[in-house]
Amino acid sequence: MNTKTISELSELLAAGECTSVDIVNDVLSAIDERDGRVGAYLTLDREAALEQAEAADEARAGGQTGALLGIPLAIKDLLNVKGQPCTCASKMLEGYTAPYDATVIARLREAGAILLGRVNMDEFAMGSSTENSALGKTCNPWNFDHVPGGSSGGSAASVAADEAIASLGSDTGGSIRQPAAFCGCVGLKPTYGMVSRYGLTAFASSLDQIGPVTKTVKDAALLLEAIAGHDQKDSTSVDVDVPMFGKKLTDDHSLAGMKLGLPKEYFVEGMDPEVEQAVRDAVEHCKNLGAEIVDVSLPNAKYAIAVYYIIATAEASANLARFDGIRYGMRLDGKDPIELYGKTRAAGFGSEVKRRIILGTYVLSSGYYDAYYLRAQKVRTLIRNDFIEAFRQCDAIIAPVTPTPAYKIGEKSADPLKMYLDDILTTPVNLAGICGMSIPCGFSSGGLPIGLQILGDSFKEENILKVGHAYEQTTDWHKRKPAIQPV
Ligand code: GLN
Repeated sequence: MNTKTISELSELLAAGECTSVDIVNDVLSAIDERDGRVGAYLTLDREAALEQAEAADEARAGGQTGALLGIPLAIKDLLNVKGQPCTCASKMLEGYTAPYDATVIARLREAGAILLGRVNMDEFAMGSSTENSALGKTCNPWNFDHVPGGSSGGSAASVAADEAIASLGSDTGGSIRQPAAFCGCVGLKPTYGMVSRYGLTAFASSLDQIGPVTKTVKDAALLLEAIAGHDQKDSTSVDVDVPMFGKKLTDDHSLAGMKLGLPKEYFVEGMDPEVEQAVRDAVEHCKNLGAEIVDVSLPNAKYAIAVYYIIATAEASANLARFDGIRYGMRLDGKDPIELYGKTRAAGFGSEVKRRIILGTYVLSSGYYDAYYLRAQKVRTLIRNDFIEAFRQCDAIIAPVTPTPAYKIGEKSADPLKMYLDDILTTPVNLAGICGMSIPCGFSSGGLPIGLQILGDSFKEENILKVGHAYEQTTDWHKRKPAIQPV
């Protein structure tokens, strides 16, 4: 049962052909069998999961319905779930217990979903490979020598290894879409403001969004529907109607009448030819489904990395000031508060987090603020304007997610700049605030998944889901499973 999707399981549950307890037991067995090798989970609350499953089965017997009722999900370890740890994969937060539920978690609880456990990530979501986790190593289920991507690497690995039916991740510069691409899952970053950030440990507040990592586009639609919508606890959440995304995905897989934009700047130098070929084949496939392909241009996208690593680090330096040894988690004593802060932060944060705090403090410091931060904000507007212009000519944009498939563990960890450069195709989306999704579109000759990125204008999730669903349902990449040998 653990290999099935949300929509398949919700039908079986509704027909009385299985119980939520059955599903949770199957998922727990898969975790026992595989997670010793995959390393997706940081903490697992078996008893609580089974209690929630029993409660879901009772609720169903009492008449409650809904796609997520009784479905077990893995949660990225930066979302607050009352009573559970929330380490952000940092030593800084070891021992911290969340005192409240994030809004997305409260909504999942209302829908009757089961919160299985917490999955690994790059420390405070800073990274692209999950190698920056201070708490453990996560491997790519398709090849254990390779990274699962990041920062939501545990989310993608757990879903790809069938150790969760679906997962929630967060995406500041690609952290849902890139691990989804590396692990052969679907990952959706919603429009900024679509999903409440209340209870998400902030990395870069103007870029962060929570979103689903799933096995199919339909499942992403169902999970998004459950977590999206206005929340007065997050002033940046927008009061828009949330469509019934799941219901809108039908068996009609025609893309006739849709215009898909192909940005020439997204086929970057140094791109792996197999990735380029898989994406070009996907474009051809969409054309065969009836879509009209139009050339669009995003001339300022090439500045996205520079702009992102100024804005994201600036915001991170401010957001992470709260981890001072007084309020949360770790504390090392000192003779005065300054020494206490210094010792705690020196011991609690890993090197990538420190690098970003230092960079962010620098670009915000007097004398450099105008030259770096303010300038970056202006270029961010240009990047946003490029997308506005492009979406005048098309309904969605299709592109690669990453320049290469998943690389080997250790291959890029010694060279942060090399790793930053790989974010070239994902960061423009966060800077512009629009929505984007990654879906499987092929495999490299080495057997690693390749992702297709589908971008939509703000609050046009419906468009990207439609294109993604049509593509997925007429191809079979999403049906392939990694062969995982038990420990
Ligand atoms: N890889 C990017 C970074 O290191 C994106 C991370 C994210 O989206 N959280 O910042």
